[in-house]
Amino acid sequence: MIRPSAMKGGLEPGRKTMKVTFVGTTACTPEIGSEVASFMINDNILVDTGWYGVMKMREHGFDPGKLEYLILTHLHQDHYMGLPQIVFWKGIKQVDEKGKKSAPLTIIGPSQHLETIVNSVMTFLQVPRFHELAIDFKLVPLKPGESFKTEHFQLDTFASRHMSGVDRQEEALTCKYAEPASGKSFVFTGDTSYHPPIAEFAKNASVLIHDACHTQPKDVAAIGKMADAGKLYLIHCTNQNGPAALKDAQAIFPRSFLAREGEVIAI
Ligand SMILES: [Zn+2]
Ligand SMILES: [Zn+2]
Repeated sequence: MIRPSAMKGGLEPGRKTMKVTFVGTTACTPEIGSEVASFMINDNILVDTGWYGVMKMREHGFDPGKLEYLILTHLHQDHYMGLPQIVFWKGIKQVDEKGKKSAPLTIIGPSQHLETIVNSVMTFLQVPRFHELAIDFKLVPLKPGESFKTEHFQLDTFASRHMSGVDRQEEALTCKYAEPASGKSFVFTGDTSYHPPIAEFAKNASVLIHDACHTQPKDVAAIGKMADAGKLYLIHCTNQNGPAALKDAQAIFPRSFLAREGEVIAI
């Protein structure tokens, strides 16, 4: 489905809402026609890349050349595997047909492995041998609890509870994205198992987007209820288990919804 995006990046004067567009919603391997959990904030911020970031952005009406911020909630492969495509796209299209330069890219993500991953992407793309792919980018490594601020938005972070294997805690960020000029904000967890302190961090959020792959839907709903979220969106479910997950969640917290690919929510 092609959906022309109506709002430009950043915060336009007088704009009362921001929008989130789900460009992917499924669990860690994509299904035919369905991409892994990933979404756009307005037109210039991507949260996680899924497997096919560029393709999915284009399919839903976004120009990857205009992407200014990439927020990686954590560094598991299904959340950054689309990064080489994004860098390649911005590299070979540094100047578009109209002579317009591709926007510089700020990559925000967990501090422990961000630089390693981005360096490996550049090595994988052979940037030292193909200088034209050397895009203008900067890294913003964040530890849980740290914040990042621009003139348009503020990102506050909190530790999710997410494992790599059975015994290693992954550095993973639950994020609160706020646009101070409009007073609007929402919270997204990235991958996390059931972690009640997230409810406090997300208290009164107008929208909470919560992983329903590593947390049981009934527990996602419990978090939504404790946070008293305006709307709770379940994400990272398979297409097969999504409807049942939604039913379980709604039984506990009626303001639960299932994130659907291509859906645009106004906040
Ligand atoms: Zn995941
Ligand atoms: Zn993960």
